[in-house]
Amino acid sequence: MKLYDKYPVRLTNSLGGKKEIFEPVHPGRLGLYVCGPTVYNDVHLGNIRTFMMFDIVSRYFRFLGYRVRYVRNITDVGHLENDADEGEDKIAKKARLEQLEPMEVVKHYTEGFHEVMRQFNILPPSIEPSATGHIVEQIEIVQKLIEKGLAYEVNGSVYFDVIRYNENHHYGILSGRVVEELMESGRKLDSQDEKRNKVDFALWKKASPYHIMRWQSPWGDGFPGWHIECTVMSTKYLGETFDIHGGGMDLKFPHHECEIAQAVGATGKTPVKYWLHSNMLTVNGQKMSKSLGNSFLPRELFSGNHPLLEKGYGPMTVRFFMLQSHYSSTLDFSNEALSAAEKGFKKLSNALGTVKKLAHPGEGTPDKELADTLNKLVDELYSNMSDDFNTARTLAVLFEMSARINDFKSGNVLITSVDQDCFQNFKNAYVGFMEEVLGLKEEEEHNQELLNGLIKVLIELRKKARQDRNFALSDKIRDDLKAIGVQLMDGKDGEMGFTID
Ligand SMILES: [Zn+2]
Repeated sequence: MKLYDKYPVRLTNSLGGKKEIFEPVHPGRLGLYVCGPTVYNDVHLGNIRTFMMFDIVSRYFRFLGYRVRYVRNITDVGHLENDADEGEDKIAKKARLEQLEPMEVVKHYTEGFHEVMRQFNILPPSIEPSATGHIVEQIEIVQKLIEKGLAYEVNGSVYFDVIRYNENHHYGILSGRVVEELMESGRKLDSQDEKRNKVDFALWKKASPYHIMRWQSPWGDGFPGWHIECTVMSTKYLGETFDIHGGGMDLKFPHHECEIAQAVGATGKTPVKYWLHSNMLTVNGQKMSKSLGNSFLPRELFSGNHPLLEKGYGPMTVRFFMLQSHYSSTLDFSNEALSAAEKGFKKLSNALGTVKKLAHPGEGTPDKELADTLNKLVDELYSNMSDDFNTARTLAVLFEMSARINDFKSGNVLITSVDQDCFQNFKNAYVGFMEEVLGLKEEEEHNQELLNGLIKVLIELRKKARQDRNFALSDKIRDDLKAIGVQLMDGKDGEMGFTID
């Protein structure tokens, strides 16, 4: 029996809002699409929570034995400043402000994004397509929508006709928005507007003469609207109907609603079986936002260099912290919570190091009650994760397991109280859920602390050598350190600092 048959995944589908049993489009396979970053800025923690959540989803499906194709895009054009299809392209604007080529902006922030993903041990997707690499396909689908009477061209721009679409389909099926109410609220269209209805959205925008990012199209030079890229890239790589589409809660409307309308309009098929949305981050109970001054960049969090932080926290501590709450609830950042997470993570991480070293000698006098307890804990790991990816309860089970591991280590309980299979199964589950499913590994900065400590010891020895006028030894320490990439810097008062290449 496959693990995924034994522990079928149940997930809360944002489409309908009910918990459903996951049934893949193709048996034994998962097609997963997640809206990736718009690369004009440093990735912030709210986005990291989303990418971490879907890292967990893809890891767990893989752990259960599914073949996973995970597609996460890079938005490198077409994301306008507001959802009303007005304003400047975010990437073009950044390029103009910093006097860079747009592709310089894209490359810089894409690399920064990948580095942050690596720090948090968020695995790369199977395919990471970019919007600019799929302009031809975007033009094709826009043409198809025009042919079907669901889109119209005005002055070189093309808009999706929501009212027409809503005659035979349901715009609002995901977000619960009602077209009539959307039409009533806010600003009315004026004669300047190109849209027929205020709920319509851009599929293609005409490029003004000074706009840098532009492509030829049947409607003249222009660039794609934001929503169309995800429809193109998800269905191109995963099929016209695929399993799971994810993203942050803030993307549900209008972005994901528009994705559904575009795909249904073009193919007549429902594009996605299950929609998953992760909730947002708050800081000391307030929404995290740049304007409130309470949003952190990952590097500020690691260094502790931020007015709201008492100290720095390692990426694995932050990862553990984020996994302590369910993805569908808000998660509040505070010093207290992070400090507590640091302690908690250390416990699990220590037990991980311990259990890896423990081995069963092969024979023993099994205690059935203990074996039942250990087997039950293993079973609970799976059942909790299969219950809508409940990482919080999974961590609670790992804590119980870590107490058992410490009992084995101290000799309070003999490993031989269970048979070899039972022990091995218990050990594999602990290691597997920590490392493969939750992606928790030892904090790298522990090694950094050790390294810094060792260098300081050498600096003190060199100081002593100089005081003793043993310059040969003091030079040797300096040169040998330099050879391995540690540069000592003599400062005032004989103080020495250092840099590591
Ligand atoms: Zn998207």
